[in-house]
Amino acid sequence: MKFKYVIVGAGLAGLTLAERIANVLNEKVLIIEKRGHIGGNVYDSYNEDGILIHNYGPHIFHTNDREVYLYLSNFTKWNDFWHRVLTYVDGNLVPMPITVETINKLYNLNLDCSQVEKFLQERAEQIDEVKTSRDVALSKVGKDIYEKIFETYTKKQWGLDPGELDTSVISRIPVRLNRDTRYFADKYQGMPGHGYTRMCENMIANKNIKIMLNTNYKEIIDQLHYETLFYTGPTDEFYDYKHGKLSYRSIQFQFETLDKNEFQEAPVVNYPNDYDYTRITEFKKLTWQDHKKTTICKEFPCSDGEPYYPFPTKDCKAMFALYEEDMKKEKNVVFLGRLAEYRYYNMDAVVRRALDVFGCRCQAPN
Ligand SMILES: Cc1cc2nc3c(=O)[nH]c(=O)nc-3n(C[C@H](O)[C@H](O)[C@H](O)COP(=O)(O)OP(=O)(O)OC[C@H]3O[C@@H](n4cnc5c(N)ncnc54)[C@H](O)[C@@H]3O)c2cc1C
Repeated sequence: MKFKYVIVGAGLAGLTLAERIANVLNEKVLIIEKRGHIGGNVYDSYNEDGILIHNYGPHIFHTNDREVYLYLSNFTKWNDFWHRVLTYVDGNLVPMPITVETINKLYNLNLDCSQVEKFLQERAEQIDEVKTSRDVALSKVGKDIYEKIFETYTKKQWGLDPGELDTSVISRIPVRLNRDTRYFADKYQGMPGHGYTRMCENMIANKNIKIMLNTNYKEIIDQLHYETLFYTGPTDEFYDYKHGKLSYRSIQFQFETLDKNEFQEAPVVNYPNDYDYTRITEFKKLTWQDHKKTTICKEFPCSDGEPYYPFPTKDCKAMFALYEEDMKKEKNVVFLGRLAEYRYYNMDAVVRRALDVFGCRCQAPN
């Protein structure tokens, strides 16, 4: 079989490229996907009770990248959704990220914004060289808040002490000296009106796009002729693990449908210190679906299973650097996406990356 372009992986990275190739270049493209569905980790579906769930954990679209927002808006309308997260600490539900209300609820105070700033400054520890996630948290909020909110949550999430994890893990959680309790501050936020899977289906509704599901690309790649292979699968698998297996943190998702209309106060509630799970999502609070029952999902982080989060430790980064040397030598293979580049990408960032790759690697016909 001959295709000018072959794409491994039908996640957002692969689908964005396929859409551009098919619609802008009017070229045929083959997508090979090992799962039985498109969308990668943004895949959502209706469960047996007819409730729309996110099969690989809650996904909330948010971005400051107007071009990406407009690009995806070609394939979906958006529900005007602003995400909120609560954290269960000492019997209280407090807003995340840390805001004035969080501090007031945690310590039973009634401080204003500037008083909270002073409160945090007095507790923040002076750390000369911030090297780990523990250092980040201590230098931002001090020991007590670190222990209440970050320490055990991070241990559960990563199976490691925050002192062993690099700064990227905790630095993503901002501290806000105001009363804005939205989880994300980005300009564009929303949920696809009919879900992510429908949005993905719309992206590839072009007869130039052929897709093979339930197929590991290794089974058929030798039978294909192509000019460019866009690879969004795991890099270590591509190279038959020659430098070793890259580590990921995985999650077991436990879904429960309850015979009641509502379960919790916010779409997501974090449990840093209680229970084995890290958080509970209630899907109806994300999708605004009207249904007399409700489905929730508990997340149990674990080491084995689907690769979700690249491990941000020195050893893993060093191993990936060896693979990167090999990747640079490839002439007709382009690596992109969270697995191939071994880095955490939000949805908007992975779409941006795919649009940029398209701009660099694919030429429009004269
Ligand atoms: C629990 C969780 C929650 C998240 N929440 C958010 C959020 O709220 N907001 C946000 O912006 N982002 C979120 N993300 C990130 C988001 O999921 C990613 O940005 C996005 O899915 C990355 O797309 P991708 O195409 O790079 O990877 P994937 O979606 O992983 O797609 C890669 C595809 O390649 C396929 N594949 C792998 N190996 C092979 C093979 N050998 N042969 C054929 N196919 C193969 C896989 O099956 C997969 O479908 C979250 C991620 C996780 C894990």
